[in-house]
Amino acid sequence: MSETITDYTAPADLLKDKIILVTGAGDGIGRVAAKTYAAHGATVILLGRTVPKLEAVYDEIEAAGGAKPAILPVDLANVKWEELEYLAQGVDQEFGRLDGLLHNAGVLGQRTPIANYHYATWQQVMQINVNAAFGLTKAMLPLLEHSKAGSVIFTGSGVGLKGRAYWGAYSVSKFATEGLMQVLADEVDGVSNIRANSINPGATRTNMREAAYPAEDPQTVTTPEEIMPTYLYLMGDDSIGVNGKQFNAQG
Ligand code: NAP
Repeated sequence: MSETITDYTAPADLLKDKIILVTGAGDGIGRVAAKTYAAHGATVILLGRTVPKLEAVYDEIEAAGGAKPAILPVDLANVKWEELEYLAQGVDQEFGRLDGLLHNAGVLGQRTPIANYHYATWQQVMQINVNAAFGLTKAMLPLLEHSKAGSVIFTGSGVGLKGRAYWGAYSVSKFATEGLMQVLADEVDGVSNIRANSINPGATRTNMREAAYPAEDPQTVTTPEEIMPTYLYLMGDDSIGVNGKQFNAQG
């Protein structure tokens, strides 16, 4: 069962004093989520693979008067467990805890039948979209336990709820993302202050959407800013007690 909370209005200080890590924070939905979280009081840790993009988001947050962010340059396609452990140590030393983790980074891979799908591309999509999210979650769980109410948000997709021809590893990776969210949510249920949920953004105006639908007029597509109510609701304390749910950001 999907949930919607598109009419949520977040208080201006919803995320005051919270430490929130956003993956894929340099572009698209992640960029807007990082800026939105900072605008609501959070100190944001910007994780991504393209440093100039992360620096631009850093500058925009500072210029808007937000708390000084942190930048974590990481290529999730190649990241090793030891590097994730090291990153978690750095977050621990700097902040001592993590209040929120938005798994947003993702890649589309090929749009082609299974019969033609490149083996190496399949593995890379699964690595970035699923394996890295597992590793980062595992590395950050002790820090999330130090939060009064740690929120982990996974990013799904419509093709991760119902399979669709030619969407290959992307579709399968989003099913796996829902599975990872559900397993984690069941494990923390009743025994931890951590909660885990997923968001299907729906069609959103980003580079990924344009790559998937090149003939579409981007002006007709919902902007990342418009889907932020769900991202705010699930990250802030108004969603304490909500666990294991799948949300559609566009209803
Ligand atoms: P996007 O504009 O392509 O942004 C993807 C982000 O992920 C970028 O910041 C990108 O960094 C980062 N990323 C990709 N590979 C990475 C890697 N190996 N290591 C670290 N970071 C990496 O896509 P988007 O539309 O904002 O998508 C965000 C999430 O929403 C994804 O999980 C996507 O599957 C999901 N989603 C999007 C839509 C939609 O319509 N847009 C619909 C359903 C679900 P670079 O900029 O440096 O490449």
